[in-house]
Amino acid sequence: MERRDFIKTGAFGFTIPGSLMNADKLKANINPIIISTWNFGLPANDIAMEVLLKGGNAMDAAEAGARHAEADSKNSSVGFGGLPDENGHVTLDACVMDSRGNAGSVAFLQNIQHPVSVARKVMEETKHVMLVGEGARQFAISKGFKETNLLTEKSKKEWKAWQKERRTMTPHETHDTLSVLAQDAKGNLAGACTTSGWAYKMHGRVGDSPIIGAGLYVDNEIGSSAATGLGEEVIKTTGSFLVVELMRQGYSPIDACKEALDRIIKSHNGKPDFQIGYIALRKDGKVGVACLKWEFEYAIARGEENKLYKVKGLI
Ligand code: ASP
Repeated sequence: MERRDFIKTGAFGFTIPGSLMNADKLKANINPIIISTWNFGLPANDIAMEVLLKGGNAMDAAEAGARHAEADSKNSSVGFGGLPDENGHVTLDACVMDSRGNAGSVAFLQNIQHPVSVARKVMEETKHVMLVGEGARQFAISKGFKETNLLTEKSKKEWKAWQKERRTMTPHETHDTLSVLAQDAKGNLAGACTTSGWAYKMHGRVGDSPIIGAGLYVDNEIGSSAATGLGEEVIKTTGSFLVVELMRQGYSPIDACKEALDRIIKSHNGKPDFQIGYIALRKDGKVGVACLKWEFEYAIARGEENKLYKVKGLI
């Protein structure tokens, strides 16, 4: 019964309709907590936690954490300094979701350093959920965002070197996403997700990170989840939504992440050759993490403590 630790099952182990997780079964955790992907999640957590400890809300915290990675030129998979597409253009994807179920997203955005903040503006100041490409850029400029060249000398050099061989990079070699899941002192949940995507991707390619339900999903009654890794596979399985829905069905956060990955393993005959990692944060403050292969690093901050952890792949 551990796997579905809240679920009521009948004599044959079937889920009894109506026994799904709901708000009354999960007492909200009110000790601020942040969980973020990869080692750049550590500094992101520091900044996000500062927001929470000053009484800020989960959305402000998640956005602040994501902005830190976007501004860091040493990080070659998010924002400024991100590796470009095959034509040398840095194109960014990001999304946010708040505790009221509102969502905002931008995809294929160029020359704007903070896609996560543009996504938040889409959520809060438009009737839409998603803006892409040139429209997203124009919207950002209309909201006061400054245009910047996001291709650093270092990333340009790497792209030029890649052009000589034009080898298809395996996703885990060249890209990562910063996803931040936050819970504030009121127990409310929010999340943010930001990336420059698969390095040397086709011009126009968009991954899972700006797709609500794929790269990120937040349900303030149940929990939140976010993804990193091969976006195409996360989109095809609506990964983050699936993790949250599995938690709703009673799966623990870690088992929800594992089950979502199991489906991908099965659809690749047990041998996927790419990486995907999920992080999950349930309403009661319980976290879960799992990845397909190799190792996956993630950072958890609780109050003053902020630590990096590693999880081994399922296969
Ligand atoms: N999920 C991102 C994408 O496919 C990149 C990553 O997290 O590795 O664009």
